Order: sequence, then C-alpha cells, then structure tokens
Amino acid sequence: MQVVLATHNQHKVEELRRILAPAIPGLEVLAYDGPEPVEDGVTFAENALIKARAAAAHTGLPAISDDSGICVDVLGGSPGIFSARWAGPARDSDQNLQLLLWQLGDVAAEHRGGHFTCVAALAMPDGTEWHVTGEWPGQILTERSGAGGFGYDPIFLPDGYAISAAELTPNVKNEHSHRARAFGKLIPVLETLLEA
Ligand code: IMP
Repeated sequence: MQVVLATHNQHKVEELRRILAPAIPGLEVLAYDGPEPVEDGVTFAENALIKARAAAAHTGLPAISDDSGICVDVLGGSPGIFSARWAGPARDSDQNLQLLLWQLGDVAAEHRGGHFTCVAALAMPDGTEWHVTGEWPGQILTERSGAGGFGYDPIFLPDGYAISAAELTPNVKNEHSHRARAFGKLIPVLETLLEA
C-alpha cells in the first residue's frame, strides 16, 4: 500500500520513515510536494487532520501527517501548537529555542517539567479519518546541549535520561519520542488497511 506523508519537514520525513518502514514492511511511504494548507486549527489534532485531509484530497492516496510541539507546564502548555513560530513568523528553530530558554531563565529545576506532544493523523480519500496522540515527558534544560535532532531537542531532557534529546542516537530517539508513541498507535490502523 502507498501512503503519502503530508509534511515538508525533512527531519520529520526521516524520522517517520525510520519509524514506519520496519513496523510495516509492505508500506510504501511517498513524499508529498503538493500545496500546503493553512494550519488554522487551535489544537494539535485539528492541525494534523487539516494537513492529512489536504494531502489525501490532492493525491487521491491515504495520507498521514503529524502535528507536534513542546508543551511547558509552567507556561500553561505553551509553546504548544505555536512551537514552530514561537519567536515569530520566520519559524527559526534557534530563535524559538533561545526565546524559550530566556522565558524560563528564573525558573527553578523542579518547575521545568514539560513534554513533547505529537498527534498522528490518517486521512483516506473517501473522507474516513483517524488521529492518535503520543507524549514524551521530560524537563527543559537551562542551556543547549548536543547537536543532533532538530527544533527544541538540544534543550529537552527526556525522563529517564541524563542527556538531551539532541544527544540521543536517532534510533533511541525514534524508539521513545512523542512521534514514535503516536505512530505506534497508528500502525495497527495502517496494518488493518494493508490487509483489507
Ligand atoms: P509542526 O511542523 O507544525 O508540527 O511544528 C513542530 C514544531 O515543534 C517545530 O518547531 C519543532 O521544532 C517542534 N518539534 C516537534 N517535534 C520535535 C522534536 O522531535 N524535537 C524537537 N522539536 C520538535
């Protein structure tokens, strides 16, 4: 079965291919280069479904997407859906991360909890759709550490680790991340479709 991956974010394409390919051997994951819809939802789920629906409508294929971000407890769950543009419309990862570090500058270690969230969505050309959520809990570091990963990885200390998400190998990140957890829940749905 072919599915189209409704994201232009190359980091996510890589992560999702690594997560999905070993789990579902018969699945052919195609890149999507069609028009990007306006993500005007106010929840991760709404935005994930907007992207998946648009790609399914454009390609006539089942489409999967994710919407994700970092949620900081002391900020009431922000940046949340605004993670990609936290420091402004330039969507600059480095500026986003710096702004978050500055906002949490005076916050003590015990209050720096948060999590990454990912909603994975699947939309069929006939309008059927699913969405599932994965969370990856941890702490926000006081400075950046590590050069791997992307986005907020250098300032995220996953629970159970003494190193940042940017210092984990891609394999370890892809076993534990919010994206792995969400897509882990979507895999049985994809398997059922593959068998049908
Ligand atoms: P989206 O592409 O609209 O889903 O926005 C995702 C935003 O959340 C981007 O700013 C990413 O930097 C951030 N984000 C999502 N997942 C991760 C991750 O696994 N590591 C680091 N940052 C992430």
